[in-house]
Amino acid sequence: MKRAVFLDRDGVLNEPVVRGGRPYPPTTVEELRIVPGALPALQRLKQAGFTLIVVTNQPDVGRGTQTWEGVNAINEILRSTLPVDDILICFHDEKDNCNCRKPRPGLILDGAAKHGIHLAASYLIGDRWRDIDAGTAAGCITLLIDYRYRERAPMTAPSYRVESISAAVDRILERERLSN
Ligand SMILES: [Mg+2]
Ligand SMILES: [Zn+2]
Repeated sequence: MKRAVFLDRDGVLNEPVVRGGRPYPPTTVEELRIVPGALPALQRLKQAGFTLIVVTNQPDVGRGTQTWEGVNAINEILRSTLPVDDILICFHDEKDNCNCRKPRPGLILDGAAKHGIHLAASYLIGDRWRDIDAGTAAGCITLLIDYRYRERAPMTAPSYRVESISAAVDRILERERLSN
């Protein structure tokens, strides 16, 4: 079976827009800043044989502060700039009680089913508690890029706490070397 690295989008692949200590997604393509180092980091994961699947909550569409087209315009740039294999999106909000909004693992489980992924040998990289708890619920090894946002901690501690996507990939590849 194949192995994957599941990647959150905002704050992992592109810079978060931080207001009042809390991160928000870019609203427009003009606001989009791809994280320096994301491209070489993802290229290293591809070379190591991982399938790269983006799993992202985009509740602002339902809240009316972002459009479906806006989210997809940003995703198209990410898709054409970075070597990602798939982008899976939850457009729901808390009240919808869906199975795909992180911290629930639905997006990860869907991605695993679609791509034939062995979850226990796969990784999740995120920047918020929702990502880590979703990754843990799916049975993945988790890495938190810790921006020290003013918000709650994950229910479950991440497997690794790192400062950047490059550092996250260093950790993953080091762990791979040790286990081979
Ligand atoms: Mg994020
Ligand atoms: Zn959902």
